[in-house]
Amino acid sequence: MKAEEWFSRRELKDRLIAWTEPFINEYLRANMYFVRGRDVDLVVDTGMGVRRFSEVVPVRPGKPLLALATHIHVDHVGSLHEFADRAGPAYSAADFAVMPDAVTYASSFAALAEPVSRLPSPDWKVEAYTVAPAPLTRTLSEGDALDLGDRRFRVLHLPGHSPDSIALLDEHDGTFLSGDAIYDDQLIDDLPDSDHSSYRATMARILELPVRIAYGGHGEPFDARRLREIARAYIERGQA
Ligand SMILES: [Zn+2]
Repeated sequence: MKAEEWFSRRELKDRLIAWTEPFINEYLRANMYFVRGRDVDLVVDTGMGVRRFSEVVPVRPGKPLLALATHIHVDHVGSLHEFADRAGPAYSAADFAVMPDAVTYASSFAALAEPVSRLPSPDWKVEAYTVAPAPLTRTLSEGDALDLGDRRFRVLHLPGHSPDSIALLDEHDGTFLSGDAIYDDQLIDDLPDSDHSSYRATMARILELPVRIAYGGHGEPFDARRLREIARAYIERGQA
């Protein structure tokens, strides 16, 4: 199978391209995004790494490309090592050089009844699956700015799903690359390093953000109305 078949590609609004991995079990099937900038291009999350994601990213020779991980979970960092410039949360920065299973949950892949519905290559075995170390070349913290030349994202630290979750908000046009902090699908808050009370605080904060459209780590893009609905439902569930 060609890399172009392994990764399903979609052109979105807001000068974004999204990919997912349709043959990965849906539990670990995440979104990867490409954001074209004037001076710098940006990749947000990199999938499982069972095939080389960098082969399908529209790299322009000589133009800087920054690959960013919204958090260190396996379905977001698998191909991060393929990129020379790697950004991720300051919170978990040291772990990116090692990729310990205790924080990536990589072993959860092999534990699935059907990890893949098609083999990424003929001799591929899930038992041999590991996440390659990808030491960060840039760490990101709350309030940092990510400047692509003609568009600029604010880094938000939004813990709860994981302690290191970050998201990117374009405060000018309301584009929100939210990682797993919020997406329009079943939210995961029962992992060993999830935290319900910080997740509720994150959702309360999200209610106040100037978001126009959200592109999450899983599922389809969603608008501000849906964003607030998801955030409010999470907060109310905690109060019930
Ligand atoms: Zn996650």
